[in-house]
Amino acid sequence: MTRPEVIVIGLGAVGSATAWQLARRGVKVLGIDRWHPPHAMGSTHGETRITRTAIGEGEQFVPLVRRSDEIWAELEERNGPLGLRCGALIIGAEGGSTVMHGRPGFVAGTVAAAQAFGVPYEVLTAAECRRRFPAFHPADSDLVYYEPGAGMLFPERCVVAQLDAAREAGAMLRTGEQMLRYENISGGVRITTDKGVYEAAEAVLAAGAWSPGFAPTALARTSVTRQLLHWLQPQHPALFEAGRCPVYIWAHGPTSDDSFYGFPLVPGAEANGVKIADEQFLNPIDDPDHVNRDSSDAETDALHADHLDGRLSGLGRTALRRATCLYTSTADAGFILDRLPGTDAITLVSACSGHGFKHSAAVGEQVALMVHEGRRTPPEGFSPAAA
Ligand SMILES: Cc1cc2nc3c(=O)[nH]c(=O)nc-3n(C[C@H](O)[C@H](O)[C@H](O)COP(=O)(O)OP(=O)(O)OC[C@H]3O[C@@H](n4cnc5c(N)ncnc54)[C@H](O)[C@@H]3O)c2cc1C
Repeated sequence: MTRPEVIVIGLGAVGSATAWQLARRGVKVLGIDRWHPPHAMGSTHGETRITRTAIGEGEQFVPLVRRSDEIWAELEERNGPLGLRCGALIIGAEGGSTVMHGRPGFVAGTVAAAQAFGVPYEVLTAAECRRRFPAFHPADSDLVYYEPGAGMLFPERCVVAQLDAAREAGAMLRTGEQMLRYENISGGVRITTDKGVYEAAEAVLAAGAWSPGFAPTALARTSVTRQLLHWLQPQHPALFEAGRCPVYIWAHGPTSDDSFYGFPLVPGAEANGVKIADEQFLNPIDDPDHVNRDSSDAETDALHADHLDGRLSGLGRTALRRATCLYTSTADAGFILDRLPGTDAITLVSACSGHGFKHSAAVGEQVALMVHEGRRTPPEGFSPAAA
């Protein structure tokens, strides 16, 4: 490839979307990733991600997820299903006032977003929820929101689809190659990797949990935390089949750590069990290369004791499998998209905060538009980097 116009660092959820969206606009793109996406080292693995339209983290995210849905649908025409619309239950204790992703009143906020944007939804009584979805045992005082058009995305398939589309549109993708540093040079940026040196007019830093290490001041508001996914065997699999069991988020206490979420059995992969996780925001990690990727039965015991017992029916006490994953979060669950302060040649994007996947296709498009059109300020709904 002759000199690229834009180098995208990181080809996970956001970077794969960015590389494709730039390449389809005729931009000469070089994409670089230190591993071979999709892989299990970052934030985009584990087979499933929840997608929903009424976004309790903030109504500004609703247009973003709607645009992502259009992009997923476009990709599905060529790639087959990238997800499954099996509905979503969002349950909140104390009338929905409980916290999720740092948002107090998350469930009540979800209802408000659905009303504001005309998203089809139902508010169920706890008894109605127990009858329609018998795996779930909400308390009578819980607020139960049901969104029939929500469901799950298959993140690894989404990444592959976007990387394939990027290649077809002319992008050069180099995987198994690690960026070591970037420098501003006259008229652009120089990227040094463990395999070579590249120059371009611009670069996009989409390195997920590794981005704060490359831009510590600009991303000072982010923190990286270890998350653990558990796959459990249901005693009565029929209760957890997609159709009888939606995806779900359950916020049952006063802090962000008092919540869990999960998925039905994935059709065709029933033997894997059901995936369930809580969220950990304490103990941020300094270096994602040194996160503890081991896990123990004691952590699955704690998931049962802290979250599942009394709320979900008949799940095996022992995990069939566990996986660690990384959140890169801002306190307000917002997404940072901005030029790196001090240089126009590098654009930073940090889309995670535990709810970024469903938005990532549209986030990549916004990054591409910002770079392609030479915009200097974050698009509406995104947060600036710290100066
Ligand atoms: C456990 C878990 C559950 C989640 N659940 C949901 C959910 O249900 N719904 C939802 O919408 N969102 C969810 N999210 C959030 C969502 O998955 C993330 O926001 C999204 O996947 C982040 O994508 P990313 O591109 O920023 O990071 P990644 O996909 O991790 O990509 C970063 C890439 O950068 C590469 N890289 C890093 N350093 C370098 C370097 N020096 N040189 C070259 N390449 C480099 C990495 O190899 C990696 O491929 C969840 C996240 C986690 C961890």
